[in-house]
Amino acid sequence: MKKMKQTKYIFVTGGVLSSLGKGISSSSIATLLKHSGYDVSIVKIDPYINVDPGTMSPLEHGEVFVTFDGAETDLDIGHYERFLNTNFSKQNNFTTGQIYLSVIENERQGKYLGKTIQIVPHIVDEIKHRIKNAGKNSDFLVVELGGTVGDIEGMPYLEAMRQMKHELGSDCVISIHVTLIPLIRAIGELKTKPTQHSVQELRRIGISPQIVLARCEKPLSKELKKKLALSCDVDDDSVIVAEDAESIYKCPINFLKEGILTPIARRFKIDELKPKMDEWDMLVKKIISPKNSITIGFVGKYLSLKESYKSLTEALTHAGANTDTRVNIKWIDSENLDNNTLYDLEDVDGILIPGGFGERGIEGKIQAIKYARENKIPFLGICLGMQLCIVEFARNILNIKDANSTEFDPETKNPLIYLIEDFIDQQGNEQIRTHQSPMGGTMRLGEYECKIKKDSQLAKAYNNNLTIKERHRHRYEANPKYRSSLEENGMIVNGESSNGLIEAVEIKNHPFFVGVQFHPEFTSRLQSPNPIILEFVKKSLESKEK
Ligand code: GLN
Repeated sequence: MKKMKQTKYIFVTGGVLSSLGKGISSSSIATLLKHSGYDVSIVKIDPYINVDPGTMSPLEHGEVFVTFDGAETDLDIGHYERFLNTNFSKQNNFTTGQIYLSVIENERQGKYLGKTIQIVPHIVDEIKHRIKNAGKNSDFLVVELGGTVGDIEGMPYLEAMRQMKHELGSDCVISIHVTLIPLIRAIGELKTKPTQHSVQELRRIGISPQIVLARCEKPLSKELKKKLALSCDVDDDSVIVAEDAESIYKCPINFLKEGILTPIARRFKIDELKPKMDEWDMLVKKIISPKNSITIGFVGKYLSLKESYKSLTEALTHAGANTDTRVNIKWIDSENLDNNTLYDLEDVDGILIPGGFGERGIEGKIQAIKYARENKIPFLGICLGMQLCIVEFARNILNIKDANSTEFDPETKNPLIYLIEDFIDQQGNEQIRTHQSPMGGTMRLGEYECKIKKDSQLAKAYNNNLTIKERHRHRYEANPKYRSSLEENGMIVNGESSNGLIEAVEIKNHPFFVGVQFHPEFTSRLQSPNPIILEFVKKSLESKEK
């Protein structure tokens, strides 16, 4: 591992429009630096006023990603972990809400000694403090600023970035601007004007980017690149074209081919960067043209917004890359699933029920679970998916017809799933009550240890490692009152937390039927796929081959 004396900062801003893939671009740059032998960290700044995305609707925000230390973060943190194969923490994502909250708290405690509190210097100082904190101990810190240059709420962050360059010098802080070069189809021409305007806007604030990363649908000619370099005032080798890629994991390789590391090394005045990308390249090839293929029935409810299942669909891709398999997803809307539409599940090789909140689509998911159980189709239920497979088993095997979760029927006489608070009230153990959600109630968040039962399907998946750590995000819990009747009838508790919470179940005499209370998708990476998701993909492949 090489070591830099002073952290080098790379700020990534966006121009022209949003959704240009700044998260993937930032992750790809960080990946190349990491594979060059450096210690790399990365931070996402969200300029909105919410303190975190935990209470935002998935329709508004996409997935809420959970870090090991229990922070509810932007989904880009998930990309960072998947690309960099690293656990990041609550320090790697902050919002305007958090910045103001700490400045106002400091003000209330009298920490500013009676001064007038202003955006400059107080808010900007807090931003710089958080950025430096995220970068301490790293050789490089990539800082991704959410939103688009010109947004009012982004201004204090751009000012912080300008000041950091002033303070640390131009060989410690560089700026990369990600923009779009639109193709005007009627005349078949690529247009550079929006990029020029966006760079001008940045300059007005006092920032001149050193590298322009241009998203385009087709290659940019040498002349256009030269024209862009001239008008944006960057070196000729510093216009990097990012064409649409077949897989997001191909981006680091594409950026490398485009030569992005040359201007980065030159600007930072460091030796040539030579990343080792062989293993990565091999995995990407397996994503793009694998030998095998399977289809997984994905029974969920936010299907119009697949972004809310980002980590899980990526985890399936990782499991596929590591088994040389294309994992096709058949999206099945649980609201449309009932006894008459189960034929939707006939052509799938495995059935997956993801996590979720709220009553909509619950009965459809229960039907899908019954179908998987009875037809011996490999099944994985995650969080809500596990809770529902217990409810299904209770209704159809234990014959408890009104079995339910109190999330959906607070009055049920048979709460197979109940609030974590109810568990605490019955069993004691106050330690569980660590996280108070802002809406009230206990949300169990972040990483916890799980003890796995020997010789179970879960143990096999985790390579007989009987103590594992996985991440959580839930308010409800399986009720231990029913445990013995579940076990007597063939549903085994195969995972437990140290304080006795039921963390996983499986059923006997089934090729693969596992429910887990944790979210295995949050720890899956391209280079180290999550074990239980990998096992589910392998079993689905086996079942297809049979
Ligand atoms: N709604 C369920 C709970 O709160 C499941 C949550 C989830 O799937 N993430 O426990």
